[in-house]
This record gives sequence, C-alpha cells and structure tokens, in this order.
Amino acid sequence: MRTPIVMARLIERKRDGGTLTSDEWRAIIDGYIEGSVTDYHMAALSMAILFNGLEPVELDTLTGCMLHSGATMDFGTWAVPRVDKHSTGGVGDKTSLVLAPLVAACGVAVPMMSGRGLGHTGGTLDKLEAIPGFRTDLSPAEARRQVEAIGCAMFGQSEAIAPVDQRLYALRDATGTVESIPLIAASIMSKKLAEGLSGLVLDVKQGSGAFLPDAVDAIELAQTMIRVGHEHGCEVVALLTAMDRPLGHACGNALEVEEAIAILHGEGPKDVTELTITLAAEMVALAGVAPDLRAARSAVEAALRSGAAAEKARALIEAQGGNPAVLDDPAVMAQAPHQVVWEAPRDGVVRRVEPREIGRAIVALGGGRRVLGDTVDPAVGFVITAEPRRIVTRGQPLATIHARDEAGVTLAREALQRAIQIGETMGELPLPLVSHRVTRNGMDLLG
Ligand code: URA
Repeated sequence: MRTPIVMARLIERKRDGGTLTSDEWRAIIDGYIEGSVTDYHMAALSMAILFNGLEPVELDTLTGCMLHSGATMDFGTWAVPRVDKHSTGGVGDKTSLVLAPLVAACGVAVPMMSGRGLGHTGGTLDKLEAIPGFRTDLSPAEARRQVEAIGCAMFGQSEAIAPVDQRLYALRDATGTVESIPLIAASIMSKKLAEGLSGLVLDVKQGSGAFLPDAVDAIELAQTMIRVGHEHGCEVVALLTAMDRPLGHACGNALEVEEAIAILHGEGPKDVTELTITLAAEMVALAGVAPDLRAARSAVEAALRSGAAAEKARALIEAQGGNPAVLDDPAVMAQAPHQVVWEAPRDGVVRRVEPREIGRAIVALGGGRRVLGDTVDPAVGFVITAEPRRIVTRGQPLATIHARDEAGVTLAREALQRAIQIGETMGELPLPLVSHRVTRNGMDLLG
C-alpha cells in the first residue's frame, strides 16, 4: 500500500464532505508520527477539516490519537484534585501566570502545560521565558514531581507530551488552518487530557481578537470541548470572555509578566484582575475544595490578600530556575531601549481598541514569531491605557510603546493609529467581560 496515494484519497473524501473511519484516523496519525504521512498531507487535510468539520466520533478518535501520541502524566493514587485552565487565545491575556500559583495556594494541584504564541495571540511559555533563567522544558516526570511537591508546574509541550499537537499547531499556524472548531478542540483537549486532570476550566474568547470572533462559534467550541472532555472522564466548565479589546493594559511578554505580578500583589488593572479571580474560583469549585462558587471566590480573594498566592509564585519561579527577584523588581527582566508615550491625536471618544492590530504589531516588533524558529524579544510591546467609550482630549497619553529601535517605534505608532480608533460617538458597546458559563448541563447567560 502506498501511503501518499491512500492519503490523497482520504484527503479527497474529507474535502468532499465524507467521514473517515476510526481505523483511518489511527493510520493517519501513526503515519504522521513515523513519517510516511507528511506535513503537506496534514496541511491539506487540516484545510479540508476547516471547511467541512468532523463528525463527533471522528473528533473523539482524532483527539484520542493525538493524546496517546506521547506520554501522559500519571498521578497514581495521589488524592489532591488536579485542575487546569486553558484559553483559546487572546491579546494581553496573562491570567495563566497568576492562576497556577493562585489556585495552588488554595489547595488545588495545577499541572499547567501551555503553548507559545500562535498567530496574533501571545503564548504563556514565551511570557514565562521573559523571567531570567525560567525553564519551561520540564519532562512529564519532572513536572509531576514538582506538582506533588509545591502544587503547581508551568511547562511546555514537548516531544514527550502530545507531540502530534505540537507539530500540527505549528503547521496550522503556517497554513491558515487555525480557525476550525474541531481542530482547536482536538488541539486543546489532547494536550490537556494528557495532564491527568480531574477538571478543566476553559476561557473561550469571543470578539474581533479571538480566533472565532462570533459568539455562536465560541459557544459551539465550548460545547464541543465539554463533550470531548466528558468522553475522556474529565469535567469541563467553559466561560465565554471578551476579546474585542486587549485584556488588561500590558501586551508583550515581559510587560505581561510585570502586570501579572501586579495582579498577585492586588494592584492589577480591574478587568484582568476580575477575570483572573473568576477563572480561579471556577477552578477551585471544580476541584471540589470549596462547596460552591461563592465560597471558592472567597478562598481565592483571601489567597491574594494574604500574600499566599505571591509566595506560591515565588516557590514556582525558584523551582523552575527563574530569578524570584522579579516578584519585587520586574526590572530584572529585559527592558526595551525605546519607551515612547503615544498620545491621542485628536479630541473624541475611544470607539475601539482593536486587539488583532496590537497582537500583529507585537509579532512585527519581534515579540512573537513570524516563522517557526524565530527568537522572541521579551521586552517589546505596549502598555495601553486607552479604553473603549472613554472621552479623550488631544495630547492625552493613551499608550506606551516598548521597542528595540526607532524603526520599531515607527511601526508601533502606525499600529496604534489603526488600533485605537477615536471618533465623535461612542461606537458599539464592548462585550461583557464574561458573557456565558457553559457546562455539560447547559448554559447560563452572565453578561
Ligand atoms: N490553543 C490551542 O492550544 N490550540 C489551538 O488550536 C488554538 C488555541
């Protein structure tokens, strides 16, 4: 049997709206691992899936094959509940950096495996690596031992865990095939299920900066991942959250770490602090260490207030080789040589702060990857204080540009000009910070 010919037939079947059998999915993923199925096959297949979707049974099989393409974390009879959070990708979203230590400080184990930047969105690993010395390349065994010792670990996917997702994620990024509900669901759930979790909280973004801007698609993605989680014995709760503007003020790797530290010290911007607490409460409640969401929220707020969350962050950073002095002095991270205030070019109302423009500009400044293997500049990015629906006057500072050189400053100015839209009238109402809560039992409208 000549695999390329078979692959061509399978791709054609998916292209024409057909279904593949479980054996065929297994053969595809096995072939991809051993090399007879190539990246170009998988790129074409991904495009066919993007257009035609997957049947539930196909998605379950694909997720299972991706999950078992590498090692899984086995906590044996360890009784502590393990819960993680994953976001579908946003701009300025640094909640993970706070959630792992915060939720661990509440008595829940958090084995958090994260990704790198994808498209215009930032990645938790790139942010963590802005902390001098911080190692994200823990092996599954190292990560498990650290979780058992201090309650949390933050590490990257590797050849060891869900390696097929690692390859496919990069391939999809390069082939315009990220925006597919089943492909996002298989990608996220395969790596999350490899963590040996008892529960998972999903932050599903909606709005212009999300991979799936439309609320209807975001809800379908949430429901799809909840179903896949249930099929694999992991309870999943999803919140639909706003990505029609950047989250918080800081956008860019080191700048976001600095803002995450401010949240840990109770000094973060209101929106990102509120979302962090809301997600943490969901994680603590899902773990069953608090009787309900209200009690979980009190526990989370107490862990922030008492400094227990910040102390856990110190333990986490030390355990992974990072410089814990960052918690007291973020200036130990790389600083951009050019820091320039950007002012409102006219009087008016801020109608929009467009997250995609900001995310793309960070990539162009060197803070993300244009091609696989690019090194990431941790120092560059923006601190944006402009908020939709605020009245501003000409010359008022609305953002600070952090750039490596003059060319970066020029590029960043142009991006801000496009992103921060100032007009005569208010424009559309911003999306609620959290609009829906989706579980296996149904959906609540929150915003
Ligand atoms: N996050 C993931 O882990 N995978 C995707 O495909 C999109 C966002």
